[in-house]
Amino acid sequence: MAGIYLHIPFCRQACFYCDFHFSTNLKPKQDLLQAIHQEARMQQHYLQGEPVETIYFGGGTPSLLEAGETGALLQHLRELFEVKEGAEITLEANPDDLTPEKLEALRKVGVNRLSIGIQTFAQPVLQGLNRAHSAAQAHACVPLARAAGFDNISIDLMYGLPGQTAEVWQQDLDLALALRPEHISAYCLTIEPKTAFGKWTERGKLQPPGEEVGEEHYLMLTQALLRAGYEHYEVSNFCLPGYHSHHNTSYWLQKKYLGLGPGAHSYNLESRQYNIRNNGLYIKKLQAGVLPQEGEELNRQDHINEYLMTGLRTSWGIDLQYLKNQWQHDLLQQNKRYLQEMQARGQARLENNHLMLTEEGRLLADEITARLFIV
Ligand code: SF4
Repeated sequence: MAGIYLHIPFCRQACFYCDFHFSTNLKPKQDLLQAIHQEARMQQHYLQGEPVETIYFGGGTPSLLEAGETGALLQHLRELFEVKEGAEITLEANPDDLTPEKLEALRKVGVNRLSIGIQTFAQPVLQGLNRAHSAAQAHACVPLARAAGFDNISIDLMYGLPGQTAEVWQQDLDLALALRPEHISAYCLTIEPKTAFGKWTERGKLQPPGEEVGEEHYLMLTQALLRAGYEHYEVSNFCLPGYHSHHNTSYWLQKKYLGLGPGAHSYNLESRQYNIRNNGLYIKKLQAGVLPQEGEELNRQDHINEYLMTGLRTSWGIDLQYLKNQWQHDLLQQNKRYLQEMQARGQARLENNHLMLTEEGRLLADEITARLFIV
């Protein structure tokens, strides 16, 4: 089974914290869509005939596309690949794009899952991030999507934001839970150097909340969502039973995926390909019939470290037998003492030959993974 990711690199305005690949110049939209169609044709054999069970429109802001444009891309993918019946088809959307007409049209062209970038329900905090939507739109979008027939909705939230006190974050959590989305992703703000927040922090114009605020918010998040019946299946992801994101899970479980669009990555179990992060060049190369990408063969160390990094973030953990069989790596043997210490501290547990982090351990997931990496 495999997945396809499409990167739609356009946004209405630049959020102050964002370092994803996007442009606010929408003029080349048609050329870019044609280039994505062309890339899909050229990559028709990348997945070696494996059936596609997930398609994910990410960005950028894919909800800026007309539903007809999204539908044309889906139709083309169905012609080129074996897309399974009932495949999970997700579209990332911003609340300000979700009108009743747009939602209905998206359902009609085959989108069956929405991932809505709400981030926070607090108007001053939204403005402080330069989000394009208002608090009123954040409140309205999920009920509108339900009315249009969407029964698989994910929302994105952010915490550790400037101006987001513990009270504001608790209110965000309460409001999110009242909407009862099937899935919630929650990310702590990180300050990336090339963003507006990064530059302001460097100049002393912005003092972002410290790490301890992020930790406090993370604990509030996990407590509230676990109490409300959500499963915490990945460090940043929670779902009602049966509603984990199939697409993201396939990344974490090391399945093949094809990425289309500028900045998208692909993975075929042996190597990884990276598309260039430049809309103009991406279009130009594809118009000339050249794939706009660089590749990298993965060696044994890359495979093991990547499996550790992704697996430890999930509730399924690391399959120790898989590591032995596939990569001749005996994680238990090589990290005996450290693993015993982690278990004694309540940060990890061993179950059915799998190593999993506990809620306490997940707070330190990056640090623990770095200790287990092979070098
Ligand atoms: S809408 Fe999303 S991709 Fe676009 S700038 Fe904001 S966070 Fe980045």
